[in-house]
Amino acid sequence: MVYALAGNQNSGKTTLFNQLTGSNQHVGNFPGVTVERKIGEIRGEKKDAVVDLPGIYSLRPYSKEEIVTRNFILNEKPDAIINIVDATNIERNLYLTLQLLEMHIPMVLALNMMDEVRGNGGTIEIDKMEKELGIPIIAISAIKNEGVEDLIHAIREVASKRIYPKVTDFCEKGPVHRCIHAVSHQVEDHAEAAGMSPRFAAAKMVEGDKEITDQLKLSENELELIEHSIIEMEQDSGMDRNAALANMRYEFIEKTCRNSVIKCRESKEHKRSVKIDAVLTGKYTAIPAFLIIMLLIFWLTFEVIGAFLSDILSLGIDALSGWVKTGLEAYGINPVVESLVIDGIFTGVGSVLSFLPIIVVLFFFLSILEDSGYMARIAFVMDRPLRKIGLSGRSFVSMLIGFGCSVPAVMSSRTLSSDRDKKMTIMLIPFISCSAKIPIYTVFISAFFARHRALVMMALYVLGIAVGLVVAIVLNHTAFRGNSMPFMMELPNYRFPSAKSVLLLMWDKAKDFLQRAFTVIFIATLIIWFMQTFDMRLNVVKDSSESLLAVVGKAIAPLFVPLGFNDWRAATALISGFSAKEAVVSTLSVLTGSTMSNMSRTLSTVFTPVSAVSFLVFTLLYTPCVAAVATIRREMGSGLKAFLVVVMQCAVAWVCAFAVYSALSMFVGY
Ligand code: GDP
Ligand code: MG
Repeated sequence: MVYALAGNQNSGKTTLFNQLTGSNQHVGNFPGVTVERKIGEIRGEKKDAVVDLPGIYSLRPYSKEEIVTRNFILNEKPDAIINIVDATNIERNLYLTLQLLEMHIPMVLALNMMDEVRGNGGTIEIDKMEKELGIPIIAISAIKNEGVEDLIHAIREVASKRIYPKVTDFCEKGPVHRCIHAVSHQVEDHAEAAGMSPRFAAAKMVEGDKEITDQLKLSENELELIEHSIIEMEQDSGMDRNAALANMRYEFIEKTCRNSVIKCRESKEHKRSVKIDAVLTGKYTAIPAFLIIMLLIFWLTFEVIGAFLSDILSLGIDALSGWVKTGLEAYGINPVVESLVIDGIFTGVGSVLSFLPIIVVLFFFLSILEDSGYMARIAFVMDRPLRKIGLSGRSFVSMLIGFGCSVPAVMSSRTLSSDRDKKMTIMLIPFISCSAKIPIYTVFISAFFARHRALVMMALYVLGIAVGLVVAIVLNHTAFRGNSMPFMMELPNYRFPSAKSVLLLMWDKAKDFLQRAFTVIFIATLIIWFMQTFDMRLNVVKDSSESLLAVVGKAIAPLFVPLGFNDWRAATALISGFSAKEAVVSTLSVLTGSTMSNMSRTLSTVFTPVSAVSFLVFTLLYTPCVAAVATIRREMGSGLKAFLVVVMQCAVAWVCAFAVYSALSMFVGY
């Protein structure tokens, strides 16, 4: 059995999905988190699968999410639908329910967030509502895992006994009623041939849905007759076709709710949200508040908590490396192997590993922002300014994801409704500084600007965003002329972040980071160590400046002379950064033979403070890593375009680093 989980955005689909399957999908108080559908087995019921579909408000193909959901239900024919409804917002949620009912598929309504309704003095009379809607209704609270067992029971029952919705007709008389009946009869055979319910097909015809009309393969004559009935309905009801249909549905919903819902008073969650929003999304306070919040997060992460934990970890790694070294020497091991283990693996992978706490702490804060509902507001606040440069708040959502990693950020651009918006967003995401670059910044900042950690860090992030915006403005006037699609998003109430989802996100990031450290970065480190230890004739070199690596590094180093770091080690580090950005740090530490604790000192033999700034600017902006480029290629659907993105990034990086370096050397001198 396959069950589809369909509902509005933020109605708790993913939370319920996780409860049903025991899986750990990312839950967000943030519309648009689930783009792709996800499938999972129901706990303890190996044969039953449930599919988490993206959140939608209607079945008209306005957005990618709606198309994904609708095509899944139409083409893959799930055995039953679990329609999840946010009970605190029941009228709006039922609008989708009515459309799902028309599809004539066994269905159960899961009335979610009942904890919040009850907490605010509301009730819903399930029996009455079941009668009105003609399907089983189960009151649940996904987050508290209440009613989920009953839901599983109910859904298995309707699916196995093929119990269809009893009500599909939402009006008893009147022009809309007549029209839908007439059209249903007209399309009946065609709809059945196309595998749709006639009622659903008729409603779509009335709405003027082109996709469905095409699938029905009606003759010219039939189309004309149908159009005639619709025009008659428009005349009789005095409304256009869409308004008439929507009006009919809302009348039905109103009637249903009048009998069965006792409204809760304005919920305290909502009251609280309104108060908080007065400041956080206020006309003048929104952007300053955002900057203060971000600065606070950076300060806590990079100067207080994260930095402290990182220091402890790197001391630990150094100590371990010291013991291993003594052990290996006592054993009298071959010096090349010793160098591989100590100078290669421990220095390279160890240098990256010590950043784990910083990344985990940063994501701890970001996931709190997201889960509390603040991120959704930011997208909303940013929508207006972004519109001026041809982007929308929707793109900002993707960019925020880019602070973590460009790969999911590029993937999330799928939610953008127009191709123009999507491509433009993809081109900007690499300018957003991803978390893999944090180790680079941290190392350089503690070497050169230890007194202003949070500020320099923030400046780098802001620079990335600013350059992205400039590029956006240029693109908007050249390759991507036009306006972005309107942005509609519901602002969820502020919620206290759930510990589970915050911990999950942290664990996700940590796992991801560790995986990278022991795969991509490990391999990159080995390659760098190998090329640094041997020369062209595979002899062990005395000094790494005679090594294979030096040959390669020296060949490209001249490119960076104008940027102020004419050093083959810097050039090589940049190349290895293509595999993964953390590898820039591991490479530099292998090449300078430094451990984490003396890295600051050794770095100052390679860079001056000014060339360090220039190097940071370059790494901030230059090519995305391999994984990101591959994703860009997939989403853009063209290798050439992905290549152009890389070239553009490198060119922009070079120009910016050059500008910064020239300006600084003029004012500061060295
Ligand atoms: P989706 O967008 O439909 O996938 O919704 P999510 O599963 O991501 O949930 C949206 C928000 O609603 C999250 O902040 C959840 O913690 C919260 N939520 C989900 N179910 C419940 C519930 O039963 N009660 C309450 N109070 N909150 C819930
Ligand atoms: Mg979701």
